[in-house]
Amino acid sequence: MMVAIIIYGPPGSGKGTQANLLARSLNLIHFDTGKYLESVVHDPKNLNNKKIQKERAFFDSGIILTPEFVTEVVKNKVTKLAKSEFGVVFSGSPRTLYEANGLMPTLECIYGKKNIIPIILKIKDATAVKRNSARLVCKLCESTIIKTLLSNKFNHKMCPVCGADLYKRTLDNPKVIKIRLKEYRERTEPVFDMLIKRGYKLNEIDGEKKPEDVFRVLKNKVLDLLHN
Ligand SMILES: [Zn+2]
Repeated sequence: MMVAIIIYGPPGSGKGTQANLLARSLNLIHFDTGKYLESVVHDPKNLNNKKIQKERAFFDSGIILTPEFVTEVVKNKVTKLAKSEFGVVFSGSPRTLYEANGLMPTLECIYGKKNIIPIILKIKDATAVKRNSARLVCKLCESTIIKTLLSNKFNHKMCPVCGADLYKRTLDNPKVIKIRLKEYRERTEPVFDMLIKRGYKLNEIDGEKKPEDVFRVLKNKVLDLLHN
């Protein structure tokens, strides 16, 4: 299925989790731009690369990476992914107007406008702060665990899925979360107007509910749009 689904939402809206579930359920590739960029800027091979050092410092402080850098890296990867002939789910990307201007024509060329579906997960700022401060990530299977959802008896050092170590991302300390929220409002939300101007309909979904409930709504929405 050659579709491109773009899931937006502030940090903590669950866009990564939802993109994962959707990819698995519809047999698509989940392209997590944030994780991909994290792997590029934290790749030991790039340790001495001046340009990437600069991007890593941005990344760790919650500031959006240089748009030119992101656009180039993402465009290359997307073009490669398209050769697999699987559709793709993006979480949180293209993230700035600059990136969107660079990436949307490429996506439209590969998938066609009518097969590109933008989704926005809505949550309150307070929810974003609460969820992010409690987030732990597994080093091995990359499961995301929200501490407050676990019982006190649970060992917070071990992944309940695979048993590997959990870690707190540099991105998830309260100061950084505030910056990420501000970046989302000021630099990502303008992309929505640009998409509307390009002829897209934005599909808003309530992200405050439990992940499985959000997913049910999301999947039905996408299937609905694909069958029309
Ligand atoms: Zn794990």
